[in-house]
Amino acid sequence: MLKVLESNFLENRLFNPNPSELRGLQTKAHNICGLAPDCDYTSFMTTDEFRTLGHELIDFIANYRDEIETLPVLSSLKPGEVQAQFASSAPEKGDHLAGLISDLEKLKPALTHFQHPRYFAYFPANSSLEGVLGDLVSSGLGQLGLNWQSSPLLTELEEVMTDWMRQALGLSPAWQGVIQDTASSTSMLALMCARERTSDYSLNRGGIQAESKRLIVYTSGQAHSSIEKAVLLAGFGRENLRSVAVDQNFAMIPTALEAAILHDLEIGNLPCAIVASVGTTTSTAIDPISAISSIATKHGVWLHVDAAMAGSAMIVPECQHLWAGVEGADSIVLNPHKWLGATFDCTLYYVRDSQHLVRVMSTNPSYLQTAQDGQVKNYRDWGIPLGRRARAFKLWFLMRSVGLEGLRSRLRRDISNAQWLAAQVDAAPNWVRLAPVPLQTVCLRHEPAGIHSDALEQHTLAWVERINLSGFAYLTPSKLEGRWMVRVSIGALPTELEHVQALWERMKLEVES
Ligand SMILES: *Cc1c(COP(=O)(O)O)cnc(C)c1O
Repeated sequence: MLKVLESNFLENRLFNPNPSELRGLQTKAHNICGLAPDCDYTSFMTTDEFRTLGHELIDFIANYRDEIETLPVLSSLKPGEVQAQFASSAPEKGDHLAGLISDLEKLKPALTHFQHPRYFAYFPANSSLEGVLGDLVSSGLGQLGLNWQSSPLLTELEEVMTDWMRQALGLSPAWQGVIQDTASSTSMLALMCARERTSDYSLNRGGIQAESKRLIVYTSGQAHSSIEKAVLLAGFGRENLRSVAVDQNFAMIPTALEAAILHDLEIGNLPCAIVASVGTTTSTAIDPISAISSIATKHGVWLHVDAAMAGSAMIVPECQHLWAGVEGADSIVLNPHKWLGATFDCTLYYVRDSQHLVRVMSTNPSYLQTAQDGQVKNYRDWGIPLGRRARAFKLWFLMRSVGLEGLRSRLRRDISNAQWLAAQVDAAPNWVRLAPVPLQTVCLRHEPAGIHSDALEQHTLAWVERINLSGFAYLTPSKLEGRWMVRVSIGALPTELEHVQALWERMKLEVES
């Protein structure tokens, strides 16, 4: 009987289910299988409801983007104020999302507006509308990558998009790419691959716990915090992380790197990996990849290049010299979900030896094996998670919609706006620029005559806080050489020169008040 009902369902209702009929049929089914008749799982949204609400939601998002410039950039809510607007537990009966748009309207003050033209904090976390649609398609089509067969589109689109990006970045065909969630987990992946290469696959024996020599990782004190975290979580241990000295531009000093490696060799340690930054978090400093990669090659050490933020700029030919020598690296990570605009999350991981990556990451249980395994990529073996989303849609939509030319000219606009601000700071009395500006971040401090040490620290934190609390713009204070300064990170999609000019006027006013 249940079989008959099911086949009825499939034949007649699959493409055009009528909700009330569906409910009738399912109540029968409930009675047959002994479920309570009011156990109403037909209350999921119908495609017609989805169509109506979906259109309203798209309008809501488009309206939000249109009005964003009028909103205070930083949310002024206090901790707990969002939670207080929700019931303490989930509703027993659903409301079919009645009043959803007005609820979202009410929650808007709880947003910090990364897409605001006067957002100058952390890094550009651009969510292009192309990227938004890419995410929508990925969820809407409900694709899930487990192996090639589970979604040929997911796998092959990812192959094509990582290759389009490889070419755009000026990388040779020796590189193969995969899309991961974040640069943090990807750098950990890189360190696991380094660990297994140096230890000749210790994971098949006793792991690095059973190794007779200590494996050592080298990075600079300017590296992103995710590198230290990756070193710890990949099992190296804090004692085996070396912090290599930087020069006056905050870039790793190659001779200091080599000295550290030689010292480790001398005391019987095993140099394993170097993590070099192309675009450090604080000041977008660029470690000299060419010299570092020669050292890595000479000593057989894995070189991982963290270009999470700045990597997007490498689609601009005149920026590619910034990572000259990158062909000598073993792995690269960059985040199109930052400056490029692909929408979080979309991290690219490129490796030269994909067989090694697969050997480290593959477990291959029988239920995941398919006849096509020999001919296809199974991206589950290119990272830690088994299931994966179709993130490649976001890159496809972005590149197809804007074109590489469009993406490049936008990045050039931001670089030029940063140069404009750097020139103002350089020319203004009492303002100091603290680092080179190779890309889009300007590190600065206002140093009025007669204000030093603690008073200067307080002055810096006070004026940046006044701007942030005013809602006019959002800036991040950060420490460089142990002292507070302010980073102006330029490159939100709607940020034009006029917005940078307005920020500069506001900063000059605010330091006097
Ligand atoms: C942003 C950033 C990271 C971390 O990126 P997630 O994708 O958020 O993990 C790592 N390194 C650098 C240099 C970054 O700029």
